[in-house]
Amino acid sequence: MSKEDNMSKALPGYGTIVVPEDRVVPFGAVTPAPVGTQKLFQTSNWRVVRPVRDEEKCTKCLQCYLACPDACWVYKAEDESMEWVGDFCKGCQVCIQACSVDGALVAVPELDFEGGVVRLDKPF
Ligand code: SF4
Ligand code: SF4
Repeated sequence: MSKEDNMSKALPGYGTIVVPEDRVVPFGAVTPAPVGTQKLFQTSNWRVVRPVRDEEKCTKCLQCYLACPDACWVYKAEDESMEWVGDFCKGCQVCIQACSVDGALVAVPELDFEGGVVRLDKPF
């Protein structure tokens, strides 16, 4: 299949999806590691909980970072900060299962957040 074939696909009932050139991969292939935020593929609108990290308890072992299937954790070595990227988090809690430090990473209901996805009139 040519690269051009991949870039624009008409799906029944969904119109045409135009894939940005720098994100085109062969169908059936694994998507490369994220290189930036991709608004076209936001996948957090079905999330009912979100992982919340306790800065005091967290040991920065990075197990959550490694376990997340969608690279929702960004680690900056310069200042050892960890950022959660909510636009892509599905609330699957795989990261929480991977965390071995009691209470360092917990699931908090979206309803507890003023801007939680379950409160949005139009999620994206
Ligand atoms: S797995 Fe737990 S302790 Fe390790 S970096 Fe993530 S939140 Fe912190
Ligand atoms: S809940 Fe799932 S998608 Fe969200 S950060 Fe954790 S592992 Fe990633």
